[in-house]
Amino acid sequence: MTDTFNALVVRETDGATGSAIEQLTDADLPEGDVTVDVDYSSLNYKDGMALTGAGRIIRSFPMVPGIDLSGAVASSESDGFEVGDPVILTGWSVGERYWGGYAQRQRVRSEWLVRRPDGMTSLDAMAIGTAGLTSMLCVMAIEDAGVQPGDGPVLVTGAAGGVGSVAVALLATLGFDVTAVTGRPDTHGYLSGLGASAFLSREEMTEPPRPLESETWAAAVDTVGSTMLAKVLAQTKYAGTVAACGLAGGVDLPTTVMPFILRGVRLQGVDSVMAPTARRIAAWQRLADDLPAELLTSMTEVVPLSELLDRAPAIMAGQVRGRVVVDPNA
Ligand code: NDP
Repeated sequence: MTDTFNALVVRETDGATGSAIEQLTDADLPEGDVTVDVDYSSLNYKDGMALTGAGRIIRSFPMVPGIDLSGAVASSESDGFEVGDPVILTGWSVGERYWGGYAQRQRVRSEWLVRRPDGMTSLDAMAIGTAGLTSMLCVMAIEDAGVQPGDGPVLVTGAAGGVGSVAVALLATLGFDVTAVTGRPDTHGYLSGLGASAFLSREEMTEPPRPLESETWAAAVDTVGSTMLAKVLAQTKYAGTVAACGLAGGVDLPTTVMPFILRGVRLQGVDSVMAPTARRIAAWQRLADDLPAELLTSMTEVVPLSELLDRAPAIMAGQVRGRVVVDPNA
């Protein structure tokens, strides 16, 4: 690493924000006890919101966005990490309140870091990224509720997106019979390759539901929210579990109490940002063990940092298929 390095910096001037790749030095980096040479970051829905200004994601300027990163420890004042350790960072408001992954180097707090599991490459770690970690947390929530593959089909909404793609691949690999909801029929072949065995259209799953519909799903991973989540709840089997993590279709939830009080349906919220460290470590190890490398590769595209601003609107428009890794060193 030379003395200067590239970082995407968002600055605010007179209420207007602008983004550009700048050359920084270590002296420009924020306080923290570990400096990381960043190998990769990724493009998540929240990054799309931050980069396009679609949501008030960035809380402090100037900001280096990027809600996740993988890399190697460049210097450490922490007893927990040594130079060269392979690390992953997701969440903790990095890329929102604190400088994040869209840089060749970043300084962070050691308590935000987890060690990258053996056998997982740095590229794999960001192909998974925040989206894939969230998928695993949803799968673990379903497992914790006692749902097993023999209990019936499971549903994944927003299936061709980042969280959805990893969820389909994980659930199918674990032996579940996966139905995918997508608004993009041209992704059926891709989703079949990840393990989906049946498909429902976005249109049919956003028809306003009756309070209870035919019991169909043993469990579901919902990345969409709003009417689609209400529909999923109305179709969930007795004692089934719905892991809700997203808002791609809206933040409202126009449902009734009927699935809960007549079928004992469980609605389990899933958050990756403040998830406890022990839970994250368990999830990353499960991702290393349970997510086949070839499936991860099939859902991943790598773009250089210089192309990121051009790609950000696509994720807001629901046009990104699978995962986009960001290479700040390209
Ligand atoms: P993506 O954009 O990659 O995926 C979202 C998918 O949702 C799209 O690909 C599309 O899938 C579907 N979709 C988009 N717009 C709509 C709509 N209006 N109605 C119905 N479906 C729609 O984003 P991510 O996978 O990265 O994130 C998914 C969601 O999960 C986001 O809301 C994000 O904020 C949330 N999230 C939450 C986390 C947490 O910790 N709780 C962490 C990470 C993400 P298709 O084309 O297949 O229909």
